[in-house]
Amino acid sequence: MDTIINNLSYIHQKIDAACIKAGRPQGDVRLLMATKTVDPTKIKVAINAGETLLGENKVQEMRDKDEALKDHLVERHFIGHLQTNKVKDIIRYATCIESVDRESVAEKLSKELAKKGATIDVLIQVNTSFEESKFGVAPSEALNLVRSVAKYDNIKIKGLMTIGLFSADKEKVRKCFKLLKQIQQEVMAADIPHVEMKELSMGMSGDYEVAIEEGATIVRIGTAIFGARIYPDSFYWDESK
Ligand SMILES: *Cc1c(COP(=O)(O)O)cnc(C)c1O
Repeated sequence: MDTIINNLSYIHQKIDAACIKAGRPQGDVRLLMATKTVDPTKIKVAINAGETLLGENKVQEMRDKDEALKDHLVERHFIGHLQTNKVKDIIRYATCIESVDRESVAEKLSKELAKKGATIDVLIQVNTSFEESKFGVAPSEALNLVRSVAKYDNIKIKGLMTIGLFSADKEKVRKCFKLLKQIQQEVMAADIPHVEMKELSMGMSGDYEVAIEEGATIVRIGTAIFGARIYPDSFYWDESK
């Protein structure tokens, strides 16, 4: 328990330091706890320490943890790969879907939201690392996708999300984040009605400081808070599981 609290305090110091280094105001960056595989007891320790935002990759897991977490004032984002047949369930638990990467998902989402008379925030996920194993719209198609998704009145686009290259070479990772920033500028210049581009969700345990230097407003951190996971991340990005 102490470990989680210590880890959080260390990460917040690092986030603040990265903001200062980048000449950005402290408080400019939100910490999203990536809580896949993490037990609600541990998540509650972090919430009691003051955390307000978490992200899950699987609808099933969001549902399973809902009972334990629903009385806690915590915002939940969906950060995993979206399947159209799960959309209906996701909107019950998430206030923001960070991983919209194709129009078919937006269409389904809009239909389900209309039934409830609800709206939802989304980020458009971009594949800035050009790795085949990663989801996200191709950078060259991002603007087009924003235009298509913006047509749905009940879907509020708030920005972009990416997963940087998994590499120890910080400069290669930095390129991914710079590309996302560049796409953000491009979308803003297009001035599409009802589209906000304030949020850039980028940076994980290994690269969040670089991401902050490049303009991240949300960093998604799991391992550095809760320790290593048993399952490889591919499990969480495999549609068949
Ligand atoms: C698991 C996950 C993270 C956090 O990864 P860590 O390396 O554990 O910090 C961030 N974003 C997404 C989309 C994830 O699936």
